[in-house]
Amino acid sequence: MKTSEIMARLEVKYPGEKEYLQAVREVLESIEEVYNQHPEFEKAKIVERIVEPDRIFTFRVTWVDDKGEVQTNLGYRVQFNSAIGPYKGGLRFHKAVTPSMLKFLGFEQTFKNALTTLPMGGGKGGSDFDPVGKSDAEIMRFCQAFMYELWRCIGPDQDIPAGDVGVGGREIGYLYGMYKKLAREYNTGVLTGKGMTWGGSILRPEATGFGALYFTQHVLNTAGKDIKGKTVAISGFGNVAWGACTKATELGAKVIAISGPDGVCHIPGGINKEMIDYMLVMRASNRNKVQDMADKFPGQASFVAGKKAWSVKCDIALPCAFQNELNGDDAKELIANGTWCCCEVSNMGCTPEAIHTFQSAGILFAPGKAVNAGGVATSGLEMTQNAAHLGWSGAEVDAKLHYIMSSIHEACVKFGTQSDGHIDYVKGANIAGFMKVAQAMLEQGII
Ligand code: GLU
Repeated sequence: MKTSEIMARLEVKYPGEKEYLQAVREVLESIEEVYNQHPEFEKAKIVERIVEPDRIFTFRVTWVDDKGEVQTNLGYRVQFNSAIGPYKGGLRFHKAVTPSMLKFLGFEQTFKNALTTLPMGGGKGGSDFDPVGKSDAEIMRFCQAFMYELWRCIGPDQDIPAGDVGVGGREIGYLYGMYKKLAREYNTGVLTGKGMTWGGSILRPEATGFGALYFTQHVLNTAGKDIKGKTVAISGFGNVAWGACTKATELGAKVIAISGPDGVCHIPGGINKEMIDYMLVMRASNRNKVQDMADKFPGQASFVAGKKAWSVKCDIALPCAFQNELNGDDAKELIANGTWCCCEVSNMGCTPEAIHTFQSAGILFAPGKAVNAGGVATSGLEMTQNAAHLGWSGAEVDAKLHYIMSSIHEACVKFGTQSDGHIDYVKGANIAGFMKVAQAMLEQGII
């Protein structure tokens, strides 16, 4: 297979699907060499099949806002690949959601889930519903209307959604309530990220951020470094950024910046427990303004409008917000300021130019599908607990999360170590995930 030929075909077939084409190109470029060493992949046309979702459901979601006005949004569920398990992946509620965005996320999820060591296929869904400025009652009514359509597409052995940008514990609660009413079954395994008293797993809310820091520690240790005492800049202040701030601080690093769509919040003394707790209040307020942190803690934090976290001098950059949030210029600015490590926690958080800039400058770089896999992995652990009708202790879940993150790191090292000894984590993660899914597809025949 030739990446350029496949990409040329996909560009004609899906013009304008920028994020999807970007995600596919990155994976194909990484796997091309290995793929061509396996004639059986070519014979079964694995690559042509793996880049297409199995199916996409699109539906209208109509609901009534607090003013009594009727609102209509679009809802989607992309069931991407079920070679190694039922479709698994989050729901994103964001005004910019398009089929291209969800196809890229479903594609990424397929390989990410394969890395987790657990049997989960890839899926993603969501809506162009914008949670910013919505009341709690509006969020509830939207979630109910969304589930009214989605519920026939999902099931504990079929497709298991969870949270993503704009969907956290509160939304999963409203979604589950409606699912249960429609299905008339207490199928806790149909969604993950549930509340602790009704089937949720301890540590699932923290898992993406915690897992990301465990992975970062492996990257640093392998390079002979330690996270203790290092300065960290984090973008976002949602669930993932919150978990990352918590664990980074616990491990002795100093989180000196968080950011939002409105700008960056400098925290020269490092974020503390009170501020980390306040991130949850900021998220629940649906205001989407990081300035709120500086207003609440005036002596400790200061706000700069219109700037990104990447303008702050730091050792380690952790993008935790949205795709393509760190571009080539940001990468150059970070490097000029002395940053020597970037672990992507958001899905496809760095543009191809940023990744290239980091890699050619010898900066330690690891991609989202490896770094952030602890979230979906802990969703997998939640599914196991649900299927067994029991709950594990925090220590048990944390030990399993540690084991999974270290297995993912090992897989990246195995498939990403280059002839000069340097580890290409992008290649490593892509090849490791791809080999597992491709092998399963091969064994299951032409379907
Ligand atoms: N949205 C998360 C991700 O991008 C979690 C998905 C899940 O738990 O199913 O992996």
